[in-house]
Amino acid sequence: MRQRLAVANWKMNGHLADVAQARAIADGAKDMTGADVLICPPATLIAEVARALEGTAALVGAQDCHAAAGGAHTGDLSAAMLREAGATHVILGHSERRAAYGESDAQVRAKAEGAWAAGLVTVLCVGEDEAVRDAGEAEAFVTAQVEGSVPDGAGPHNTVFAYEPVWAVGTGRSADAETIERMHGAIRRALLRRLGDAAEAIPLLYGGSVKAANAEALFALPQVDGALVGGASLKAEDFCPIIAAL
Ligand code: PEP
Repeated sequence: MRQRLAVANWKMNGHLADVAQARAIADGAKDMTGADVLICPPATLIAEVARALEGTAALVGAQDCHAAAGGAHTGDLSAAMLREAGATHVILGHSERRAAYGESDAQVRAKAEGAWAAGLVTVLCVGEDEAVRDAGEAEAFVTAQVEGSVPDGAGPHNTVFAYEPVWAVGTGRSADAETIERMHGAIRRALLRRLGDAAEAIPLLYGGSVKAANAEALFALPQVDGALVGGASLKAEDFCPIIAAL
């Protein structure tokens, strides 16, 4: 039985006034059993959100970290700093970071090692863009991303994976069931080849325009263990029905 997880990626959204939404999400989810809830606000709000979630089961995560433990990296944050602020998880390799900052699989892997060293669980993102899909190379591309970005020693204690097709992130156009099943199958096989039996229990989330209207159908897919949600995770009224469907 794999962990089932609903992850809120607030991206570069959220001010102090929005911390109340994090608490409302946790309160709304409290009677929903079987799924863990992870809220990833901008780094400026991690400590505030962690405080607001005290006494609830919801967890707080970051959206990125530097690979190094410290040093001359102006503007960056180490995993240990994020942990100190209250984070238990960190999203790494999100397609928006890969696109905007050219983050490579090797960099994602180094960040994951840094995150583990500080005690954070990594939510590793992979996914193909539309050109790769149209060229019929989606499975090979994502398989290579998995192989390149997951460090040795990954298992359910330190790693969650998210399949996020770039063409489905923030577009309102979710992948269909057949695509998700095929891609999740390819990712699971790549993890098993790379990590052996430990890969079986690593949760594999889907991300890309998940909302209340499509959550139930997505979560009914046997290879989908939860969701990474952007736009529909900012408000409790939108995110709680997704958690309930899980
Ligand atoms: C995301 O931010 O990872 C994401 C999947 O966004 P959205 O749900 O808005 O497509």
